Amino acid sequence: MEKVIIIRFGEIFLKGKNKKFFENLLEKNIKNALSIYDCVIEKSQNRFYATNYDLELEDSIICTLQKVFGIHSVSPAFKFPTDITKVAELVADELPDVKTFRVSVKRADKTINLTSTEIASQIGGDILQLKGNLSVDLHNPELNINVDIRENKTTYVFYQNIKCYEGMPVGSSGRGMLLLSGGIDSPVAGFRMAKRGMQISAIHFHSYPFTSIQAKEKVIELGQIISSYCGHFPLFVVPFTKIQQAIHQYCREDFMITVMRMIMIEISEKIAISQNCGALITGESLGQVASQTLESITVTNSRVKNLPILRPLIDMDKTEIIKISKEIDTFATSILPYEDCCTIFLPKNPIIKPKVSISEAEYNKIQGLQELIEDAIKNVEIVKIKNKRK
Ligand code: ATP
Ligand code: MG
Repeated sequence: MEKVIIIRFGEIFLKGKNKKFFENLLEKNIKNALSIYDCVIEKSQNRFYATNYDLELEDSIICTLQKVFGIHSVSPAFKFPTDITKVAELVADELPDVKTFRVSVKRADKTINLTSTEIASQIGGDILQLKGNLSVDLHNPELNINVDIRENKTTYVFYQNIKCYEGMPVGSSGRGMLLLSGGIDSPVAGFRMAKRGMQISAIHFHSYPFTSIQAKEKVIELGQIISSYCGHFPLFVVPFTKIQQAIHQYCREDFMITVMRMIMIEISEKIAISQNCGALITGESLGQVASQTLESITVTNSRVKNLPILRPLIDMDKTEIIKISKEIDTFATSILPYEDCCTIFLPKNPIIKPKVSISEAEYNKIQGLQELIEDAIKNVEIVKIKNKRK
């Protein structure tokens, strides 16, 4: 009896004219994600099936599939030619060690002259005959035996329906440039936009030697973790030391963070446009820190001319963000204690409600800033981020 993994996809994006586009993209993403496993992906009647894989790797394949956006759920299943008189016999030896069960039948094959309920009770009866120690419990069974009778004379039997993230296939919603710090929030922001189908590129501002090599390595590590969801991507590491020193030299102390963020977003937009990105993504959450008040966000926005800034965490509490970061496995890395460039030269009392006009005046005080910006962009280091497949 053949073992397969049923891969179901969300229906929402499959309604319109673009159905084929989404399906093909999802198939490509599934194949990419499973490329390290020796398995075959088949498509049949609005589903994919992973087949011909090493059974010992089944759990690992399922974990990988759970990270592919656009998949609704997966089920490891037995596959055989439809014959309802044989189902019990075929699965009897494969049943997990339980005392109670029920059979649930879905019958797409209308050539069979029995209702789903009739088929279920027939198979249930057959199982009871073969396995005297089992009993039926329709309401709270330990094991639900799902029998899926498809139109193409194929039947699948499975016990589990493992929920996935759903979302949209990565690549269906353009490309965004994620401002990736070493903190908790920005990796989660990247994950959330990838879940909506966005391809991710990332940018990191690095202030070596004020921030350490480990700080950069930590960001690369975070990139590698999120790439198991969003695929491989380039990380643009921008040398930011000279700009930070200039801010320190010329600007009012309470405006230093504001000006720093104005410059960061300006550089990010320039690099994003050169990389054909259609948006910037940050991990900002309203009111979380002084630079994330409505006034501060207004100042940051004022430096961006062409791209939208997407802030998927804007309404979230830190506890909610931490919950996701634990779930996607970035938390432990995010809390490693290496300094980010935002935490050096930190003013004691950053302005909480900066005015655009004063912020611009402070920005304009920095002599030679445009050259410094051009220089930073010229010296960007590009790191290719790939999933480590831990
Ligand atoms: P995070 O937890 O993501 O580090 P944070 O709590 O440190 O965020 P801020 O320092 O205000 O908050 O940064 C807000 C957002 O600005 C971050 O979520 C990130 O998108 C971006 N950002 C901050 N520092 C950097 C950096 N060094 N390089 C790239 N982007 C950054
Ligand atoms: Mg934050």
